[in-house]
Amino acid sequence: MTAKKKILLLPGDGIGPEITAAARKVMDWFQSTGRTNFEVSEDLIGGVSYDTHGTPLTDAALKRAQEADAVLMASVGGHKWDVLPFADRPERGLLRLRKGLGVFANLRPAVVFDVLANASTLKPEVVKDLDIMIVRELLGGVYFGEPRGIETLPNGERRGINTQVYTTSEIVRVARVAFELARKRKKKLCSVEKANVMESGVLWREEVTKLHAEYKDVELVHMYADNCAMQLVRNPKQFDVIVSDNLFGDLLSDLASMLPGSLGMLPSASLGARDASGRQSAFYEPIHGSAPDIAGKGIANPLAMILSYGMMLRYSFDMAANADLLETAVKNVLRAGVRTADIVEKGQTPVSTAAMGEAVIKELARLAA
Ligand code: NAD
Repeated sequence: MTAKKKILLLPGDGIGPEITAAARKVMDWFQSTGRTNFEVSEDLIGGVSYDTHGTPLTDAALKRAQEADAVLMASVGGHKWDVLPFADRPERGLLRLRKGLGVFANLRPAVVFDVLANASTLKPEVVKDLDIMIVRELLGGVYFGEPRGIETLPNGERRGINTQVYTTSEIVRVARVAFELARKRKKKLCSVEKANVMESGVLWREEVTKLHAEYKDVELVHMYADNCAMQLVRNPKQFDVIVSDNLFGDLLSDLASMLPGSLGMLPSASLGARDASGRQSAFYEPIHGSAPDIAGKGIANPLAMILSYGMMLRYSFDMAANADLLETAVKNVLRAGVRTADIVEKGQTPVSTAAMGEAVIKELARLAA
């Protein structure tokens, strides 16, 4: 008998425990109907871990995360811990976890559910039914490159230095994730750099082009990052999967996250390398933070967290049918007018975090009947 796949849940701080409770019930529905058979455990991260253990991530919690087949985290942070030394802050726990898991590819879908097209700052017809995926390289590039620092020149002027650096293997591993994703989607990949002005961009383009030989079924285009930013606002539906480096990917994924208009709806995944047995470290989280302004009120939108679980089903466990079922249930619930306060429209009464979770479960049960 093969061992049960292990999921580690990290509720974290602020609205984290509330949206985790809603997501946990959705996970329980999949378990109780026999659609999944996971071993689910929970641990602490962030401010709550600092309060309990004096550190935002214990070695034991990190080890558990490394041993898990997938990690699902809600959010960390809050004003209470903003006064702590940098090393003890909740966000350091998250950075340590990402590093410890070796996740180098950050996947950020920007999906606009038809009924929420009015929530975008762009015209509804520009974003309606949008479904794109941005893949950002997470562990290399200018945020990590050496030399770096601020130095004083002999003439007294100061100079700030950062270095954009990429090796072939760093480019190939993230491009491979993007090609694989495109293969499972609409088979279109747009690789983004600035090969017109940066040598690292020239290398990026060459390596992605070489790798394309293994993915001939995927259509590959190259685009300069400045043009891509413009195109994402002008006509985002031209894209399927976009892959870019750490810096450009950071900007483009934040830009794309605003196309749907609501933070509470957006999941994300961060993936690492596959080992010889095919196991891949994987970390899933909503893109929003701990929302201290609404924490404890039971009104947070749990859908980004629930959809992060959907991404886990799809990408870590190859359960496309379960992921499709969950996404359809979320879509139908929204179509039926069930809304938390952040996405409520005129004439609708907002529901609680728990009620939104229950509505998704009810719809899952209806769809599955
Ligand atoms: P935030 O994402 O927590 O909140 C921004 C705004 O969006 C707030 O008005 C909030 O109420 C709202 N919002 C966010 N998620 C929501 C949801 N699920 N439902 C309804 N409304 C939601 O960003 P912030 O206010 O800049 O940061 C708050 C704290 O979160 C800080 O301590 C920050 O460091 C931390 N943070 C953590 C992460 C993470 O855990 N990955 C990411 C970003 C920020």
